[in-house]
Amino acid sequence: MAKINLVINDRKIETEPGKTILEVAGENRIKIPTLCHDPRLKPYGACRVCLVEVEGARTFLPACATEVIDGMVVKTNTVPLYEIRRTIVELLLSDHELSCVTCESAGQCQLQDLAYELGIEENRFEGEKHTYTIEDYNPLIERDLNKCISCGRCVRICEEVQQNSIYTFANRGFDAIVTTPYDRSLIETKCELCGQCVSTCPTGALTEKMSRYKGRIWEIEKVKTICPYCGCGCELEIQIKNGEIVRVSTDVESGINKGNACAKGRFGYDFVNHPNRLTSPLVRKNGELVETSWDEAIKTVADKFSKIKKKHGSDAIAGLSSAKCTNEENYLMQKFMRAVIGTNNIDHCARL
Ligand code: SF4
Ligand code: SF4
Ligand code: SF4
Repeated sequence: MAKINLVINDRKIETEPGKTILEVAGENRIKIPTLCHDPRLKPYGACRVCLVEVEGARTFLPACATEVIDGMVVKTNTVPLYEIRRTIVELLLSDHELSCVTCESAGQCQLQDLAYELGIEENRFEGEKHTYTIEDYNPLIERDLNKCISCGRCVRICEEVQQNSIYTFANRGFDAIVTTPYDRSLIETKCELCGQCVSTCPTGALTEKMSRYKGRIWEIEKVKTICPYCGCGCELEIQIKNGEIVRVSTDVESGINKGNACAKGRFGYDFVNHPNRLTSPLVRKNGELVETSWDEAIKTVADKFSKIKKKHGSDAIAGLSSAKCTNEENYLMQKFMRAVIGTNNIDHCARL
């Protein structure tokens, strides 16, 4: 592929055509701030904090929506750009409920990070503020529009990735707001509670209820793993505090899913530490399930299988494996059914 050359902040860079200034800057560790950008979504250019100076251009250009061309000269960190970014963030904060002390997003909030980087300590723009009712009528997601910055990421991920289009913008100007059809709660729409909108929200406007108050982002350890639920093999980040899973997140830069996950992968982790989870085998004695040793449990199953096989043949037995096992365990299960029991009656719960 033909190469193109450009200059960003006096650095000569060689790259391929078709990329945006934001992508090329990111690949070369040049940070351009963003709020409405998510690599899973089409460029939107709404928040304007990624504006950059391009030599010869009549106006500042959004780095997220401007493709690089050969010979381009770009500046990302001039004084006028700093002033613009600062004013945008000040305006956003002027109608924002600043409850960073207890906000679930503190420490992973892009608005908070940007305000910090720009050194914003005071509000220059006193004026009218909105007060919205928090929506939490579903078991998984809380919507607090008092912290919404109208970036449209939730609207776009639900439409572009989930193909579900639950959200839309209503009203204009200062009163513009993200809402649902007829302003219903999420459970009154066809929302699947997949949490994709939560995963892209750059502030605390959309948060997960299951993980509330369970751990700050700086207290947790992240462990990457593969989702156990189906054959797609999505990569998940298990967030752990004191040996317990407190949240599941995703990384937009890695895995075959590139940051996307369904409701099962994102919210279906409570079985791991659930008090009702079996921790020892059970055998039915006199009609009651009682705890037993692994030796006795395995002997009981082997005896019963042998009797059934002798009386009715191998195909009288079927095996149903679990998506919560590893690939290796599932391989062994089908090998056991085919080679030891002698039947092809083997299936997997993820297909159900
Ligand atoms: S959304 Fe961000 S800026 Fe707003 S209260 Fe929460 S942490 Fe603070
Ligand atoms: S949870 Fe999923 S389906 Fe529901 S609004 Fe968010 S992205 Fe759309
Ligand atoms: S709810 Fe979050 S993702 Fe949606 S528009 Fe508001 S800030 Fe953006």
